[in-house]
Amino acid sequence: MLKRIIENISLQHFGGIGNDDQSLTGSCHNLIVEYMDGTETSIIVDMGAFQGLGQDLNPSLPFDADKIHAVIITHGHIDHCGRLPMLFNQKKPFHGDVYASELTKKVAHTALLDSAKIFATEYEKEKRKYDKFIEECKEARRTVANYEATGVKRDAGGNRNENHDARPSKEAYDVAKKLLREQGITREQDIYTKIQKPLLPIFTSDDVETAVQGTIEVEFSEEKKLHWQEICPEVSFSLWNAGHVAGSASVLFRIAAGKAKMKYYFFSGDLGPARTPIHPFGLAEVPNLPIDMVVMETTYGDKVRTEFDVGYREFEESVIKASTTRDRLIIPSFALDRAQMILFLLVKMRKEGKFQGKIFLDSPLATVYTDLYQQHGVLGSGMDELKSMAKTFSLIDATTREGVLAEEDFKIIVTSSGMATGGPIMTHLLKYLADIRTTFFFMGYMAEGTLGRDLTDEIKPKKLVRLPDVEYPIEVLARVKRFNFLSGHMDQKDLWEWYKKLHLRPGARVVLVHGERDSSTLAFKHFLGRRKIDYVAHKGITIPEVDKILVPDVNQIYSVF
Ligand SMILES: [Zn+2]
Repeated sequence: MLKRIIENISLQHFGGIGNDDQSLTGSCHNLIVEYMDGTETSIIVDMGAFQGLGQDLNPSLPFDADKIHAVIITHGHIDHCGRLPMLFNQKKPFHGDVYASELTKKVAHTALLDSAKIFATEYEKEKRKYDKFIEECKEARRTVANYEATGVKRDAGGNRNENHDARPSKEAYDVAKKLLREQGITREQDIYTKIQKPLLPIFTSDDVETAVQGTIEVEFSEEKKLHWQEICPEVSFSLWNAGHVAGSASVLFRIAAGKAKMKYYFFSGDLGPARTPIHPFGLAEVPNLPIDMVVMETTYGDKVRTEFDVGYREFEESVIKASTTRDRLIIPSFALDRAQMILFLLVKMRKEGKFQGKIFLDSPLATVYTDLYQQHGVLGSGMDELKSMAKTFSLIDATTREGVLAEEDFKIIVTSSGMATGGPIMTHLLKYLADIRTTFFFMGYMAEGTLGRDLTDEIKPKKLVRLPDVEYPIEVLARVKRFNFLSGHMDQKDLWEWYKKLHLRPGARVVLVHGERDSSTLAFKHFLGRRKIDYVAHKGITIPEVDKILVPDVNQIYSVF
């Protein structure tokens, strides 16, 4: 097929960018290739869901699904794939192909089914509330009507009916009247038009199956084994290990930009740290090809983390202390990647004789992922240990939890969710937060508004907390601690090492995303600027002029041709 002549290439970011929780999650980038003949190819990299404060943005897609030609998912975290199923339930649905690595497809399948289940449960809860409120409003109308009924009622014999029992009290009338006034209800049909119905879930498990079953698996490329996947005659791409979570990829586009001239655009996706004890899926890799534009994440563009060893030693000491003074240690964790790391560290510690006790995993989601890590993790750098881990910890669930926790010996329970926003950890908090013989370790960053944050706030940790659906507040008597030494992202030092390996062409653009704009992203931009002065004499490291290091705004569309 004859190649079309490219007139322009532009880029737009719908999420995974910005300055607040609202747009920082929901990673979604659109690469648009426009041709001289008026046609175009529109490719979406990641379709993440907004989390926390940005959740209200989820129900509507920022583009017409039927106008998109291809979607590539870099990895299975919800902020990168959480809206993928919506492509297929739009009025004008998507007709192109979805691409991902084999493991990302597996992880996304599990993660999205979990989302669909949460949405369905949430919807049922809201629907029950709605139905109940509708009944309350109907009852209020009856109360008002009965109270206001005029005329003297007479019984069958024509005598005045003095029975006032049927008439509602003035108090009940006032309450009913107030409710109707607040809701703006004057007629019966207002009840159905003025009260907001609960929103339907943004997708169902059927939509998840449609999206995932149709996803095309793409092999990873290596320096000596390139694997190009064609989207159209002008645009192909290859996947490169991003070292972040199982299946995570960076995406390299190869675009036929002129006679015998290829342009290469590289999207980092989320990049996994280099300085951790195990890399179950290897380290991030970059292609040995000339790059015209790199879109890179800067989650920790402003931070240099303390070496892993320092944090790990503190963790180790705390586990030992808990094992000698307490009955149980409960560790809420992200189900993907983090839970497997924690299990690995605990098993290793126990093997070294640092403590005695049983280790349990209490999380259906983390159980699926752990299985996946054990089946597919690469050997080397500790992975052998992780693979044989099945024999060294036990799984528990809602049916076996009670029995296990009643045992007297010291035990460690790894559970989820990591920030205590739902999942089995809620049961543990309810039962043990007020127990002085229990320790809770929270691992990593805790978002504002989560129970994890309330309990571990550096300035003022809460000593009295409320759990959802529990009517009374709970006093925090258990020991609560937070650790920061495990991270799924590269810090500034790792990002710089990764960047140095890229072969940027003169005049290349660097686009910085996926970090808090004013702190981490701009800090990394300034960092690059300073390195330009230091490294100007070094061959092979290209740092563009400051006007070519871009920190775009959300939804902004700009040419990168
Ligand atoms: Zn991620």
